[in-house]
Amino acid sequence: MEKIQMTTPLVELDGDEMTRVLWRKIKAELIEPYVDLRTEYYDLGLLEREATKDQVTVDAARAIARYGVGVKCATITPNAQRVEEYHLSRMWKSPNGTLRALLDGTVFRTPIVVKNIHPVVRTWKAPITIARHAYGDIYKAAEYRVPGEGKAELVFTDKSGRETFRETIYDFECPGVLQGTYNKDTSICSFAHACFQYALNLKQDLWFSAKDTISKQYDHRFKDIFAELYEQEYKARFEAAGIRYKYMLIDSAVAGLMQCQGGILWACKNYDGDVMSDMVATAFGSLAMMTSVLVSPDGTMEFEASHGTVTRHYYKYLKGEKTSTNPIATIFAWSGGLKRRGELDGLPELVQFGQVLEDASLETLKDGVMTKDLLGLVEPGFQARGVDSEEFLDEIAKRLADKLA
Ligand code: NAP
Ligand code: MG
Repeated sequence: MEKIQMTTPLVELDGDEMTRVLWRKIKAELIEPYVDLRTEYYDLGLLEREATKDQVTVDAARAIARYGVGVKCATITPNAQRVEEYHLSRMWKSPNGTLRALLDGTVFRTPIVVKNIHPVVRTWKAPITIARHAYGDIYKAAEYRVPGEGKAELVFTDKSGRETFRETIYDFECPGVLQGTYNKDTSICSFAHACFQYALNLKQDLWFSAKDTISKQYDHRFKDIFAELYEQEYKARFEAAGIRYKYMLIDSAVAGLMQCQGGILWACKNYDGDVMSDMVATAFGSLAMMTSVLVSPDGTMEFEASHGTVTRHYYKYLKGEKTSTNPIATIFAWSGGLKRRGELDGLPELVQFGQVLEDASLETLKDGVMTKDLLGLVEPGFQARGVDSEEFLDEIAKRLADKLA
């Protein structure tokens, strides 16, 4: 078979630890034999971020914006322990946070659903996608550890320097804590547009949830923006597509989710999305079966796995031990990126290759060959065999070769 030719590079963001190890193998064994892979490569491994003072992350984000599609490997977000381990000069920020801010994107996370592997919630039949508003709120908060008695106030000074708002938050009689969060209408609008468009693409109902009964200004603003945009721009298209939009209080959304059949897009505020996506991923099977795509208002997309660098497995790997790390979500990041590149460039063979790569991966699982994280989740009576990462990739490679032959 002749290799598939690409016309535009895919922006490739390399990462850290166990996922970096898998990254190389996935490229070499599953992609490069079939695709004349053109990538613009950025090494987001922690050492390179240190060496470039994190400029490499900014450059990578700009490249994604320029080319329209990126694929990212999981990366370490340094904490105090990592600063020591890697002798860092600074505790560099989360690369994902930097990418989200520069691309003004919304993160959509979808579990990969496989026959024979059952969600913990038995009513779920189809995947639930979570859209996380990846801007502001507690992730950009100002915080203060209140040392003792004193008054905390919320003050707003307009551009001309005139104080237009002042309200007491609390008159402290003892030590405590204080937090100031914000969001912007422009960012909430981009988020809402991204969600409406993604729901239309998926042809799935959209839920948006917040806590407007308690947060009468902050969360209520989110609710109003969604409602206004829906009425003005999306209602007719939703009706034509046979899908619905509804606003729900976050607690009733959680309750509703446990009873629904799945096949919905659930839009969440930043913190809710952070927490709920891990819950949904784990309830569907394994963190290693959750894909993530960052979508900008102009349709730029960055694909990745939801999980991290799987540090525990990496330390075993460094000792020369075999690990059973699941590469599925990372493979799907690559297939997602290749499919999107193919769509944008009018290369149906590249789109088809991405699809066949996904099919071969899922077929391997259906045949009962899987990494150990999935073994405990198979339905009773189904014969499954736990393999290490290498053997699992070999099994996928075999099926892929068969399908492409
Ligand atoms: P993690 O890498 O997602 O791993 C947590 C645990 O989940 C693993 O120890 C493993 O459980 C299981 N797991 C996750 N992915 C798996 C896979 N592909 N196959 C098999 N098991 C898998 O989270 P973490 O250990 O909290 O974080 C490690 C590093 O990743 C941190 O430095 C963090 O900053 C970074 N991180 C990056 C991203 C990102 O780039 N998007 C996201 C999250 C975290 P067992 O140990 O039980 O086998
Ligand atoms: Mg999280």
